[in-house]
Amino acid sequence: MSRVLGTRAELREALGALPRPVGLVPTMGWLHAGHRALMQRARAENATTVVTIFVNPRQFEDASDYTRYPRDTAADLAACGDEGVDIVWVPDVAEVYPPDFDTTVSVGAVAAPLEGAARPGHFDGVATVVAILFALVGAEHAYFGQKDAQQVMVISRMAADLALPTRVIPCPTVREPDGLALSSRNVHLSPEERRAAPVLWRALRAARHASEQGERDGDALRALMTGVLAAEPAAAVEYVSCADAQTLQELGRVEGPALLSLAVRLGKTRLIDNIRLGQEA
Ligand code: AMP
Repeated sequence: MSRVLGTRAELREALGALPRPVGLVPTMGWLHAGHRALMQRARAENATTVVTIFVNPRQFEDASDYTRYPRDTAADLAACGDEGVDIVWVPDVAEVYPPDFDTTVSVGAVAAPLEGAARPGHFDGVATVVAILFALVGAEHAYFGQKDAQQVMVISRMAADLALPTRVIPCPTVREPDGLALSSRNVHLSPEERRAAPVLWRALRAARHASEQGERDGDALRALMTGVLAAEPAAAVEYVSCADAQTLQELGRVEGPALLSLAVRLGKTRLIDNIRLGQEA
């Protein structure tokens, strides 16, 4: 059984009595095998594991996306217990953002394209809440999924720039057998949309294959992904990208490590995925 806490004070007090190092896994709940993989890694590498479950209103630019976000605290707490998590922090919105809260953490260039462009304000919300979690937990290590590759880059930039003592550790994307990246949002897919959803992974894999065969032209790789997605009528493409893996600037030629990424709508559900070229996936 994990200890379930709700206030900042309870969290601080509980952590004071627990052994170090501490591994932190921030989540928005509706926990799945992707989250569990982060917990397992945290547990393997730390004496104490802390999971936070907080659907952060500041990172939703669309109010209906926030209200519709799936929630099941009882199941989440059971999952944390199964994984041997020591502390689960499940705060109310007012505990994270008291009425006089008035600070925004805003990361620059790496937060601007892709998800930053598609979802204005999203990364300000993410960086702000993660800064609070890092300050409250004071963990040695924090675990994030590569599924949200740009998010990991934004948080790493923030932690380096603000000299935060928590080390950001990226972890591989966990996928369904058909390649669909696990996501809490997958629960919203209709059976027909679920059947269509592996098209994201097929598009990424097709571009990776072309790259492995020697294709270096960014436009060609983007066009290849767009073509695969276009063959799936249920998929409405928001963006496809072939970008520098450090800066996230779109590439004309792929000469070094690159990030292929895409965002696609299936009905009302927005899915993202990515794959790295020239590095471990
Ligand atoms: P979320 O609850 O969606 O905010 O995700 C919490 C953490 O889990 C983030 O670091 C995500 O990148 C990570 N995560 C979400 N889905 C996956 C997945 N399929 N594989 C690995 N990590 C994931």
